Amino acid sequence: MELKRYPDRALRKKCLPVRDVDDEFVSRAQQMLEFMYAAEGLGLAAPQVGRTDRIVTLDVAQQREGTRIFLNPRIVSHEGYMEEEEGCLSLPGIRVKVPRAEKVAVRAFLLDGEQVEVEAEGLAAAAWQHELDHLNGVLIIDHLTPTRLITIRGQLKDLEEIAQRQER
Ligand SMILES: [Zn+2]
Repeated sequence: MELKRYPDRALRKKCLPVRDVDDEFVSRAQQMLEFMYAAEGLGLAAPQVGRTDRIVTLDVAQQREGTRIFLNPRIVSHEGYMEEEEGCLSLPGIRVKVPRAEKVAVRAFLLDGEQVEVEAEGLAAAAWQHELDHLNGVLIIDHLTPTRLITIRGQLKDLEEIAQRQER
């Protein structure tokens, strides 16, 4: 597995629902979780490793226990408003304030087919919204006003140049 970084087009793909969960799928989902820990991320979404199915791995508390792999997640309710700084493994070095709901309820499936509903607030709520954005090809920079975007234009340009050099 390889981490996709801005401006990789994989990050702009809208992912499709997961339909079949076979042994290979389970082992690749577990690889995604291990990859997330190795990268020291709180969460990881399929497009960040070049996949196009709706998988999110999340462990905001970094406790490495409990349920951390979620399939076909969707937000079923949200409330409140907050703006906290967020970073993204796919946008190294960039931290920006992103408008989010303060609380969310998320419904998702687990690898064994069980459906769960998770309630999250604060950092965990932001993480859910961040990862669900990824499944729809949306990045934290897409939430910025044009004025704020200008302030990180130099950093984005640096990332674009790094990518160009790697292609050559
Ligand atoms: Zn991200």
